[in-house]
Amino acid sequence: MTSGPKLSFVYQASPSRVVFGAGSFVKAPEEIDRLGAKRALIITTPGRRKLGEELAARLGSKAAGIFDRAVMHVPVKTAEAGRAEAARLDADCYVAIGGGSATGLAKAIALVSGRPILCIPTTYSGSEMTPIWGLTEAGIKKNARDSRALPKTVIYDPALTLGMPEKLSATSGMNAVAHCVEALYAQDANPIISLIAEEGIRAMARGLPAVVKDPSNLEARSSALYGAWLGGVSLGGTTMALHHKLCHILGGAFDLPHSETHTVLLPHATAYNAAAAPEAMERIARALGAKSAAQGLYDLEVKMGTPLSLQSIGMKREGIEHAASLVIANPFYNSRPLSKEGIRALLEDAFAGRPPRSWSDA
Ligand code: NAD
Repeated sequence: MTSGPKLSFVYQASPSRVVFGAGSFVKAPEEIDRLGAKRALIITTPGRRKLGEELAARLGSKAAGIFDRAVMHVPVKTAEAGRAEAARLDADCYVAIGGGSATGLAKAIALVSGRPILCIPTTYSGSEMTPIWGLTEAGIKKNARDSRALPKTVIYDPALTLGMPEKLSATSGMNAVAHCVEALYAQDANPIISLIAEEGIRAMARGLPAVVKDPSNLEARSSALYGAWLGGVSLGGTTMALHHKLCHILGGAFDLPHSETHTVLLPHATAYNAAAAPEAMERIARALGAKSAAQGLYDLEVKMGTPLSLQSIGMKREGIEHAASLVIANPFYNSRPLSKEGIRALLEDAFAGRPPRSWSDA
């Protein structure tokens, strides 16, 4: 640990069991046994249906059914349909297989029933390691924490991520990096989560460009999935600041794609906070093997060919003023105080896809 002020912090461990390794997917039946469950409802997105069926075949009589209607941001109607199906099938556990959308739906169901979740993630969203649930109604997404939403067991099988397209891999991976970055300067940052977050960035920076170059590289996939796990722990172990709030605001107001929005904004939110969080910046830069945290993140994205501008992912220029107003109208903790001019300038940079600026007034 680097030197700093007197040690004083709260650390809350998240009690989940993690089974990691290529091929570990086959351990799902024994992990269901460990949970004491007998009738698993498999929850997935339409795109991962085939994988859900493979899992059902493997579970045999332990599979109660498949619910493949998970979509981004958990609409209330989808959650209600999932809860009804779980009750109809008398499911006693939920197996989410897929990205954050599948996990999100399983959480929405478990939140009401209190039944355990076994999660088998196939993207790098990190949701499987957090007690954070979300539900969307009339275009507004509500997020909160509840221990019933935290998966009891997570199986990380890098082999399941081999088919993830390069573009989704890169942006989903930057979503995990964003969890790590914000954990390092969180209001409730603590030495344990900071260790995890720094290692998460390091694992991603090592694995992700190699994944984009060769999506079938299992070693690189393993490193990236390990980074995603650590990103999820970082997200679950702290409360997030400017970057995540901005992503939430832009995603909700303009229906922008989730992981791409994280990717585009991350270097700019990092730059905005740089002068106010020097120790965090040092750790981020060190993990990236770069001189500057914000520029290092931007360079990593350039190298992987991810989207760099909000314009390229569907935002309109008029949205900048509206988004800056929303940030100021709903203030939250951030390392550096929020000003409307500052947020507007950050969004202008991100809109155009410019490299992150050096702020001199922080
Ligand atoms: P996603 O789950 O919506 O998946 C995106 C698409 O990729 C889907 O069509 C899916 O079928 C497909 N897909 C998934 N895995 C694949 C693979 N291996 N190969 C090919 N295609 C694959 O996207 P996501 O980014 O994983 O999750 C986003 C959602 O998760 C959002 O709703 C976000 O708010 C939520 N989230 C929640 C938390 C939390 O802690 N609560 C954390 C991060 C993200």
